[in-house]
Amino acid sequence: MSQIESVIVVGASAAGVSCVRALRQQGFLGSITLIDKDQHGAYERPPLSKQILMQADSTHHDIALISDDELTALNIEAHYGDGVCELDPTTRRITLESGKALTADVILLATGGEARRLPIEGADLPQVLVLRHYEDALNLRQRLTADTRVAVIGGGFIGAETTASLSKSGAAVQWLDAAALPMAHLLPTELCEKIVANHCAQGVALTPHCRLDKFIEQPDGSVSILFEDTTSIEVDVIVMGVGMAPSTPYLSEAVSAELLNPATGGIQVNDNQVTKFSGIYAAGDVAAVTQADGSTVRHEHWQSAQHQGERAATAILNKEPPAAPVDWFWSDQGDLHIEMAGKILPTKEHLVVRLEGDWPVYFSVVDNRVVGAVSVNNPNAVRAAMRMIKNNVNVEPSQLANPELPLRKLMRG
Ligand SMILES: Cc1cc2nc3c(=O)[nH]c(=O)nc-3n(C[C@H](O)[C@H](O)[C@H](O)COP(=O)(O)OP(=O)(O)OC[C@H]3O[C@@H](n4cnc5c(N)ncnc54)[C@H](O)[C@@H]3O)c2cc1C
Repeated sequence: MSQIESVIVVGASAAGVSCVRALRQQGFLGSITLIDKDQHGAYERPPLSKQILMQADSTHHDIALISDDELTALNIEAHYGDGVCELDPTTRRITLESGKALTADVILLATGGEARRLPIEGADLPQVLVLRHYEDALNLRQRLTADTRVAVIGGGFIGAETTASLSKSGAAVQWLDAAALPMAHLLPTELCEKIVANHCAQGVALTPHCRLDKFIEQPDGSVSILFEDTTSIEVDVIVMGVGMAPSTPYLSEAVSAELLNPATGGIQVNDNQVTKFSGIYAAGDVAAVTQADGSTVRHEHWQSAQHQGERAATAILNKEPPAAPVDWFWSDQGDLHIEMAGKILPTKEHLVVRLEGDWPVYFSVVDNRVVGAVSVNNPNAVRAAMRMIKNNVNVEPSQLANPELPLRKLMRG
């Protein structure tokens, strides 16, 4: 493509905002338009299940991703509260809900995802909420009083964070998970047991192996949750934390067939965020990225979205892409700050436990190389592991497990 003069970024969140910043940082002087369907504009999503639920006076201004002043300074035209409803990838033309149509030399699709709802009777009741946007968190917070009964469905990180935040805010929380143990698909089992026990000690009531049947609204506005074994509970609010799906309703059926990765539902890109259409890029939770080994991964976390936005900017400008960071993720669950890096392998043979402080640190080790780590209230341990992963350091598992040996001594191998 000849000289790029205009870029449209659809989605003003972690990926989109990091792309527009990087474009300017790297000297792009052409026009940049940042579009988001959300009237509140660019804000961080991670605080939605934490700060926004727990602090009654916290608003989207407190979690803004980019201020109006910075947008002005960077000469970025922000267009909020007007979603893209159509994309023609060959002419690089988008149509907005307002009817406005725009074209650009480059379009980055950074539209993230929408929260899933379980397909069961009553899932569309107004008392059944999800958590993806600021308005969702506000809606939930506004329903909370000292004795609100809340059922949180889902044993992933969003379910765990919401459970912890709501119980900290004084709500009576029932945590319903289809699995035997929340987060066990993400973290070492013993660690999950300890984290979940911590939540239960704060007053959360956990029901594992939960088989939902339907939700029925009661005349007093509460909702009955019926289980397959015919038992039931009554609550005032239900929060579904059962994952997200990439958001691409603006793609026609024909374009979806060209652009979407059937396995993940994400927009297929190469490792420079480039789709098969010239000038069309995708980044963040919506992007299904083909890795160097040929596999395709769609990440759903902040650091990856942020990095992909930056990577898209360098690809747009035909510059050297930033080095891929070691994968990193955090989850704040009440008083617990959990950090993870790399790949947490479920198999015991690869697990090394370091008993350090109140919470053990878990490392995944393959052939004397650390490939992943997870810690609670101990971010330094994960930072050390990230250095070991990045530098491919050779380390004896017995040394890693020895709390007398400072991790920084092992970082250089
Ligand atoms: C409640 C919650 C808590 C989280 N906590 C953590 C955490 O603790 N740690 C962590 O690492 N990650 C966390 N995440 C995940 C992290 O927030 C996401 O990975 C990250 O926000 C993805 O960024 P993104 O830019 O790809 O997409 P998103 O953040 O989903 O943003 C997409 C944007 O596109 C806009 N959009 C969508 N469709 C259109 C359209 N048609 N037209 C215009 N605009 C559109 C949306 O309004 C939205 O602003 C959390 C997510 C949620 C929801």
